[in-house]
Amino acid sequence: MPGYHPYSEAEAIELARSFPDVFSPEAELSCREIGDGNLNLVFHITEPATGKGLIIKQALPYVKVFGESWPLSIDRARIEGEALRIQHALAPELVPQVFLTDHEQAITVMEDLSDHVILRKGLMDRTVYPRFAGDISTFLAQTLFFTSDLGMSQQEKKLRQQAFVNVELCQITEDLIFDEPYREHERNNYEDAIADEAAALRADGALLTEIALLREKFLTRGEALLHGDLHTGSIFALPESTKVIDPEFAFYGPMGFDIGAVIANLLLNYAGQEHWSADDASRKDYREFLLETVRGTWTQFSAKFRTLWDEHGQDPVFSNAPGYQDLYLDRLLQDTIGFAGAKMVRRVVGFAHVADLDAIPDDAVRERAKRLALSIGKELIRQNRSFRSIEQAIDIALTAA
Ligand code: ADP
Ligand code: MG
Ligand code: MG
Ligand code: MG
Repeated sequence: MPGYHPYSEAEAIELARSFPDVFSPEAELSCREIGDGNLNLVFHITEPATGKGLIIKQALPYVKVFGESWPLSIDRARIEGEALRIQHALAPELVPQVFLTDHEQAITVMEDLSDHVILRKGLMDRTVYPRFAGDISTFLAQTLFFTSDLGMSQQEKKLRQQAFVNVELCQITEDLIFDEPYREHERNNYEDAIADEAAALRADGALLTEIALLREKFLTRGEALLHGDLHTGSIFALPESTKVIDPEFAFYGPMGFDIGAVIANLLLNYAGQEHWSADDASRKDYREFLLETVRGTWTQFSAKFRTLWDEHGQDPVFSNAPGYQDLYLDRLLQDTIGFAGAKMVRRVVGFAHVADLDAIPDDAVRERAKRLALSIGKELIRQNRSFRSIEQAIDIALTAA
């Protein structure tokens, strides 16, 4: 990475000045680094006089883990920039516009979405997002269909796959989601209060088999260009708008991994409502919204995906085989459910957690919420291959304790 260096705020302002469409000439600009600093720098440059802004994201060549530095290729910034461009072209309202990518400096300059709220935070504040299921199902249907063998040239798809070989970030997923939570590992990070649950996972043979099958799918099924990290921290939302950011884990993988990420994070928040809702009545209301969003995400995704297939299917064998589309969607639902379950379990016993659960202050309530999340997650994993309808996931959430 010749010439690469992490930018200072002054350098970020300097770069921002080269966007005359955003900022007035010789404007007074201010800059704040707003990333969490573990993986990437995120500079927010604003012109106080006009209120206009710009985001400059720069990859760092390491991740901080346990205070130690773990090297990580800055090529992921190229992957993120290219994925954002492809996703923006396929779902223009739902992905920020990219103004510039600089592969040498691992920089992406993009639209400022600071008027939006990170969805995870919005859900913890119990905001209702009536558009979210519709928007995210459009994002998923458009980006997954049109990057797959169903919706694009199969030769171009193979060439594109080469540009999205994301060895190191895939390994993070392979380790943190499909390996470490199911054995003793130094990176696992669970509270003593639920050590019994962690031990039970390691001893649950049927569960280990399902995880092995899901791991195999993640490793081998290059179905579509995935976002790869589609949790509620990678989504900016307002009640009237949805924007998907941060696709640095993008690669060609199984579609259900992205759909499952959305569903898992809605259900993690569902479990967290043990705390975030003040009383039983409001808890019941908000959980109904969350479950309706789980239902809507899948049902609207599958309807939109089928319509795209009927109208834009590229492959006559797939389009003409009777019943093939139904079999495809059945399997996709099962993958979605399995991956959703795996993504829930790792957030309780694995290395990286979610604030929906970890930010619950009361020990007993937090433990109850985590046990609920694990109970739902394990059931999704156990039952994934017998799923026929998203209603089964709703039932699992409603009956889990
Ligand atoms: P990381 O890969 O390090 O998680 P993200 O792309 O998720 O980086 O960005 C980290 C944070 O920076 C986000 O949670 C958000 O607060 C802010 N951010 C990122 N992109 C934008 C944007 N386009 N507009 C406004 N804020 C952004
Ligand atoms: Mg972050
Ligand atoms: Mg992020
Ligand atoms: Mg990221």
